[in-house]
Order: sequence, then C-alpha cells, then structure tokens
Amino acid sequence: MGLLVAQEPYKRTMKLMGSRFDITVVAKDLVEANGYIDLAVNEITRIEQLISSWDANSQTAEVNRNAGIRPVQVNAELFELIQRAISISKLTDGAFDISYASMDNIWRFDGSMKAMPTAEEIKASVSKVGYQHIVLNKENSTVFLKSKGMKIGFGAIGKGYAADKAKDVLIAKGVVAGIINASGDMNTWGKQPNGNEWNVAITNPMDKNKVFAVLPITNGAVVTSGNYEKYVTFDNVRYTHIIDPRSGYPATGIISVTVFAPKAELADALATSVFVMGKDVGLNRIEQLPKVACIIIDDKGNIITSKNIEIEKS
Ligand code: ADP
Ligand code: MG
Repeated sequence: MGLLVAQEPYKRTMKLMGSRFDITVVAKDLVEANGYIDLAVNEITRIEQLISSWDANSQTAEVNRNAGIRPVQVNAELFELIQRAISISKLTDGAFDISYASMDNIWRFDGSMKAMPTAEEIKASVSKVGYQHIVLNKENSTVFLKSKGMKIGFGAIGKGYAADKAKDVLIAKGVVAGIINASGDMNTWGKQPNGNEWNVAITNPMDKNKVFAVLPITNGAVVTSGNYEKYVTFDNVRYTHIIDPRSGYPATGIISVTVFAPKAELADALATSVFVMGKDVGLNRIEQLPKVACIIIDDKGNIITSKNIEIEKS
C-alpha cells in the first residue's frame, strides 16, 4: 500500500558571501529539508571560494595579484563566468564592468570613507577600469589583466550566479520546489505544496519596511538593485555603491531597479547595468531582450515599467 507523504516548505536563513541568504525547499520532513539545504550551502560556499576577490586563496585574487604581470590559469567555471560578464559589458556599452573593482580603493562603503574622493583620485582610479583590457585565452584557460592596478570583482553578478547554481544542485537532487533568496536576489522553481505559485515581495525603496509589490513567480529570478542598501553621504548628497565605470562616479537618477529574467545571474547583472545606464537607455536595452522585464523607480518617485511587464502592482 502506497503512502502519500505530505510535502512542506522548510526555510533556513544564514550568512553566505557576506550577505543574508534564505533558502526554502519543499521536502517531506525537516531531516530531508536540512540535507537539501546543506547541499545548497556547500555549493554557494564553493562558489564564494572561487570568485571572492577578498579571499587571498581564490583564483580571482590570483588573477588580480598578477594584473600587469602575467596571465593566470583559472578553471573553466570561472573562465566562463568572466566571458559572460564581458558579454554583458558589451551589451550595456560598458555600464556593467567587473573591472570596476579597482575603484574599491576610493569608493568604500564600509564606513571608512570620511571625505569625497578628489577628481584626480577618481581619474587615476578609473584609468584602471575597462573590460576591453581583460584578456582571455580560451585554449590555455587564462585571464590576464593588462595593466598594473587593474582588478576584477563579482559584486554585481556573483550572488545571482550562486543562486542559479544552488537551484541547479537542488533540482538535480529531485527537490520539486524552492526559493533561493540571496539578499533580495530571488530565484524560484516549482510551486508551493498547496499548488499556488510562490509569491515574491519587492521592497518599497522609499520605505524599506513596506512592500511595493507582491508577485507570483513560478520559475525564474527577480533581482533588485537599490541605492538604499550601501551608500555614503557627503554634503547631503547620497552616493550609491553602483559606480559608472566610465566616469568613476556613482550612478545617479535611479532609486531602485527590479529585473525579471529566467536566470538570477543575468537579472543581477542587468539590475546593476540599468542603474548605471539610466532609465531611458536602460529601458530600451531591457525591452530588446527576450524574457526580461524591469521596474525602475527614479529619484522623483516615478515608477517606470518595461513594455513586456506582466505584473499587477499592489
Ligand atoms: P547588491 O549586490 O548590493 O544588491 P548589485 O547587484 O547592484 O547590488 O551590485 C553592486 C555591487 O557591484 C557593488 O557593491 C560593487 O561591488 C559592484 N559594482 C558597482 N558598480 C558596478 C558596475 N558598474 N559594474 C559591475 N559591478 C559593479
Ligand atoms: Mg547586480
């Protein structure tokens, strides 16, 4: 006689990649759920060790240490992630650029910045930025940053990538449904055990405690980039952690960008990109991409949605 086992959603919250992650899986009991969540955590930790520019032992740190010196061999996974990041740079005319990272020295959002960087400092630092100077050799699987002081970092794409990979691992293990929430970078699959779709809440950037919209998502990602998470204030002007790699100055004009895409990696990178491109160019680019949509809130509080958006705002 077959037994029907009830499936329930189980959720665990933890800090990974320096951010809050909430992992929800549908499983038959807590023991099974914990086993699944452990697998996701292992996968995210593995990726962090590969792509973190802070961890001196990562391949990424090795590439950065050898900027202007020599090409560094990396594994296929990192090589391909860099390749995809460069494709997004091309798609966005350089608004997205993993080599923004050399600007880390002058724009710091950990509370250690006491004054606005000078124009000279910004000019010197931005001269080290440029995805065109990341040299990839597919045959040898090497990455070379052409000039000394160049640096790559995955702050705008890494959490999305990790969320995609964690989801893949769980699907491969037969987990029927779940949500990977990487500090608001949401990636879902399947449905709730009661048959309803997962609902994803998007925060109101004007008031973090208020939800701006609740959307049903069955299989895909929703990512929000906001200027209210990490920023510094000088002379009453807020400077956000998203930098225009072409000018070296923080992006202005937008408060938040929410991007919907089949994969969290793309959504993550594009949310950052639209922030830099601004609402007109940003919207235009998004509307040309299949299965991608966005909601922009500008600094006047206007809400702008791409034509292809299929949601109802609450
Ligand atoms: P968060 O991860 O805080 O939600 P984002 O996904 O928008 O926000 O990523 C912002 C981070 O990306 C910054 O903290 C920085 O590490 C990095 N970054 C900033 N500007 C750019 C840029 N123009 N291109 C690529 N990465 C960037
Ligand atoms: Mg991003």
